[in-house]
Amino acid sequence: MPRKKATAGPKGRRKSAAAESQTPVPTPAPAFTPDEQKYVERYPGHRFVAGSLSPPGAETCFGRKRVITILCANCGAERVIATSDIFHCRLCAGCTKAAKKEARKAKAK
Ligand SMILES: [Zn+2]
Repeated sequence: MPRKKATAGPKGRRKSAAAESQTPVPTPAPAFTPDEQKYVERYPGHRFVAGSLSPPGAETCFGRKRVITILCANCGAERVIATSDIFHCRLCAGCTKAAKKEARKAKAK
């Protein structure tokens, strides 16, 4: 009765082949839309949430302004801001307040 031995693998070739075929999967880059990509490039210090830019003309909490979600550079909290405010908004509301307070304190010294 022919019987394959489980340990018959001559040089353990199969194992290494399988390991090689495991190409390292790069962490999928967030899919920014072309419009978002513009902001990403213009504001390299900002962290934007992919897919968060509102479509043009859509009614948002900022009226007809387009909004985008950023991640606070300090605590990572999400904050929805108008695209026209990006240049001066890098932190969430809480951190902005704290930063202002710190700045005032530093000035007072
Ligand atoms: Zn924050």
